Amino acid sequence: MTAVDVRDLRKDYGNFTALKGITFKVYPGEVYGLVGPNGAGKTTTLRILATLIKPTEGSAFVHGIDVVREPESVRKLITYLPEEAGSYRHLTGREYLRLIAKVYGLGEEVVNEGIEISGLGGDIDKYTGTYSKGMKRRLQVARALMVKPKVAILDEPTSGLDVIHAVYIRGVIREYARRLGVTFIVSSHNMLEVEYLCDELALIDKGVIVAEGRVRELLDIYNAENLEELFTRLVR
Ligand code: ATP
Repeated sequence: MTAVDVRDLRKDYGNFTALKGITFKVYPGEVYGLVGPNGAGKTTTLRILATLIKPTEGSAFVHGIDVVREPESVRKLITYLPEEAGSYRHLTGREYLRLIAKVYGLGEEVVNEGIEISGLGGDIDKYTGTYSKGMKRRLQVARALMVKPKVAILDEPTSGLDVIHAVYIRGVIREYARRLGVTFIVSSHNMLEVEYLCDELALIDKGVIVAEGRVRELLDIYNAENLEELFTRLVR
């Protein structure tokens, strides 16, 4: 059974076509990367998978469940980290994570795991309204991971994070995939990150997948030194 099965997705915004037929499959416990230039269609694809917008044509399934026909069921299996997420300024970090855990019917051990992932230490008891951009991001990443969804859909998870925390979060993602079988769909502009993190990737440009496969195989096929070289060669 595939964890995520995306078939010929098309998306129009008015008379602009953002996705022109996106197809890929992701298996349980894999980390799948979406890369591509600004405006390529990565967020649009992720938002369709997260049941926030509907495709104009095509279909997508999460563990066999149709995201358009059964969005409520899909939402029980996923977490979605948007590119920019707010987090209740009037709550402390701990209160926010507790609120999320409660929604999922989970207990204090999950909150503690979230606090660990966030790396916020003593700052967890400060109001989130006082957090820096990176601290807010870490809280959001912690929120998306700690509930251990079947599929985590993360839009640029380490964007704005310092190197230490970015490296740590990548480690947690790999660990959750390997140890807990959580499937990840991750978008990123950081090719080093994608090389470390992703089992497979799709390079999207102007709503079309221009290359897809295992990182090592893609580098071999295109005889590229690294993903940056591959990217700049295939994207115009
Ligand atoms: P980035 O790397 O900059 O985050 P992206 O690959 O995530 O880019 P999308 O956000 O999916 O790109 O946008 C794809 C295209 O669709 C862009 O041209 C964007 O302007 C357009 N688009 C996205 N959302 C809307 C919308 N609500 N209305 C109109 N056009 C939209």
